[in-house]
Amino acid sequence: VLPGFEAELVNPVGRQLKADGIKMITGATAVNVVQSADTITLHYLKNQEQLHVTAEYVLVTVGRKPNTDGNLGLDRIGLPVTTRGLIETDEQCRTVIPNIFAIGDITSGPSLAHKASYEAKIAAEAIAGLSSEVDYRAIPLVVFSEPELASVGLSETEARAKGIPIVIGKSTFGINGRALALKETEGFVKIVANPISGIVMGAQIVGVEASTLVSELALAIEMGATVEDLAMTIHPHPTLGEVIMEAAENAVRKMIRGERGK
Ligand SMILES: Cc1cc2nc3c(=O)[nH]c(=O)nc-3n(C[C@H](O)[C@H](O)[C@H](O)COP(=O)(O)OP(=O)(O)OC[C@H]3O[C@@H](n4cnc5c(N)ncnc54)[C@H](O)[C@@H]3O)c2cc1C
Repeated sequence: VLPGFEAELVNPVGRQLKADGIKMITGATAVNVVQSADTITLHYLKNQEQLHVTAEYVLVTVGRKPNTDGNLGLDRIGLPVTTRGLIETDEQCRTVIPNIFAIGDITSGPSLAHKASYEAKIAAEAIAGLSSEVDYRAIPLVVFSEPELASVGLSETEARAKGIPIVIGKSTFGINGRALALKETEGFVKIVANPISGIVMGAQIVGVEASTLVSELALAIEMGATVEDLAMTIHPHPTLGEVIMEAAENAVRKMIRGERGK
């Protein structure tokens, strides 16, 4: 379930889905669907067993591809696409044809609306003659589940896989006054930072308003802020944003004290 996110973030979502009476079948391969007048039956294979589920609708929510074949006519102007049908661009969103720019889903990277509009701003500035370039360090990714999931920048899993030294700061919604008042105490904020400088490299949130809270962490990455900056920023009480401040405080306590600690 939601394999793009770390298991500890997905678990609260899984618990909520179960509590809502939703049965999740994972590790299964869809084989075929049979449609009748008012139902549709999906046959699937799980542990070599042929099983099925009958429902009113089947919603396929995976798989998107760039619409660059067919009538766009890229071949007529000699603009090549990759094997995946994507248009290659440089750091100013410029294609190999210098007066043609490409942004959004037809270029590489995550297919997200805010990534597309960000690239549009860079492309417009480049067309206007400015030296603007894309910086993809802080593209937030949100799942509007209950509770919400949000991620920006580097994750702990990615950092560990790449051998990047990190310090992790965590705090939970369970000890946050506003979350308690909202009866939304499930979840936590996790901040991934450099263990010496404290520079924020990434963050993941599962919990209420994660979609809104993630922007503060995107700003921190964009500005090159440290966990100390977040910890020493006065957050109003009682607000959900205090979970970010407390996660940052947690990271500050765990940082390697070199010159900074003297
Ligand atoms: C169901 C769904 C839910 C999504 N939810 C989210 C979300 O919650 N958050 C998020 O960030 N992103 C979401 N996305 C992704 C988001 O919609 C895309 O990343 C975003 O729209 C990409 O913008 P774009 O300008 O690159 O492409 P598009 O928005 O697809 O715009 C391309 C436009 O080009 C037009 N076009 C295509 N071919 C031609 C042609 N030959 N001539 C002229 N015009 C043409 C199309 O009609 C279209 O209007 C979702 C996508 C889907 C499908």
